Amino acid sequence: MSSHTSPVATANATPGPDDDPTIVGVDLGLRQLFTAAPADATPDVASAVSVDGEPARALFADLREATRRRQATTDDAKSDAVRLDRHYRALLVDHVDDAIATLLGYLAAHDADVVALEALGQEWVSLTDARTQGKDLDAWLFPVVQDRLETALGDAGYHPVYVDPTHTTNACHECELLAHVEDETITCTTPDCPVETVDRDRSAAVSIARRAVDKIKGEL
Ligand SMILES: [Zn+2]
Repeated sequence: MSSHTSPVATANATPGPDDDPTIVGVDLGLRQLFTAAPADATPDVASAVSVDGEPARALFADLREATRRRQATTDDAKSDAVRLDRHYRALLVDHVDDAIATLLGYLAAHDADVVALEALGQEWVSLTDARTQGKDLDAWLFPVVQDRLETALGDAGYHPVYVDPTHTTNACHECELLAHVEDETITCTTPDCPVETVDRDRSAAVSIARRAVDKIKGEL
């Protein structure tokens, strides 16, 4: 993974008109841990790469089950819960790092100069609050993914460009209009738009990349 030795453009770089940086957008999620695609993807986003979110979801389910079992059988459930969380978090970090290695390989293969991410903010809710909101998986998973990803990108010499996440998962990446949304796909109904039905996360990754293109151009 260390073959990427000359990362160049960032939001602060000044590529000329004939020297457009190659921008790859990365969408983080639960169904797929991440999906990456370049700004110049075809309408069907065939060139994207994804890492399945199932192993991470399974780790969380195992943690929840192990915690529940210990609570039923021990008087010292609190320290046990902390120990279990630490154990499963370490397994999650290993899995996330493997996923990030896949992403770094993809970035190198595409000669990516810039990595675009959504600006998701830092308002991570506490696990207790998250549980009552039914978002405990999000609260457990995303800070780990975000933290490991930012560290790995920095170590590899990439400086992420952060973009507005509004409607990235329900607007068409080509015409930018709101699309018909299913669980795993969007279908664009705009006349003459070349996008038909496409994986939501792939479309989101392209939208994220293209917003970074606009942002970089706006800063020139
Ligand atoms: Zn469209």
